[in-house]
Order: sequence, then C-alpha cells, then structure tokens
Amino acid sequence: MAEPVSINIDGESCPVICARCKEPIFFIGEVDTEVGEVGCTACENVSPVKEAAREALDFAKAEAQLRLNQTLKDEARKSKFMTFSGQLSHNRTYRFLVDF
Ligand SMILES: [Zn+2]
Repeated sequence: MAEPVSINIDGESCPVICARCKEPIFFIGEVDTEVGEVGCTACENVSPVKEAAREALDFAKAEAQLRLNQTLKDEARKSKFMTFSGQLSHNRTYRFLVDF
C-alpha cells in the first residue's frame, strides 16, 4: 500500500486530498518527489507531483487567510465600533486540497 501524499505546513505533515472526492491522493506508479505523478484514481484527477504540491499549498494559504478573516468577522460582530470587510470564501477552485 502506497503512502498518501502529504505536504509540510508550519512544520506539520498534512495529507493532500482530491478536491472532488475529498480522499487522500497517492503516487501513480513510481514514488518520485521530483518527476512522479500523483492523484486520485477514482476520478482520474492526476498531476505531476510538483504541480499538485503547488496547488495544495496555494489552497492552504488561501484557506488559512479565510479562516483568519472569519475569526475577525466574528470578533467584529461583537463590537459596535468595528466592522469587517474581506473575503470569506475561495475565489477560485483547486484541484487538490490540504486536510489541516
Ligand atoms: Zn478524486
């Protein structure tokens, strides 16, 4: 059984998941972190490992920002003096996500 693909976020190893199936992705064929291919065989969402890693990292950054925004919005709601305006949902779709 192959190891699921994961990326390092703030020192923690987080599994990369298929955006459609929300299932972990695996190496297709040879495990090679330079030129290997990874993806979800269930829906044939497959990419070169570096592309998938970049996609997952972009998602993680955006997701972290959105979570922060949501926290700020919740805080602002408690106050008469503060308002929050900012993005609360992803403005693009990602092929690979990170479970963190
Ligand atoms: Zn899938």
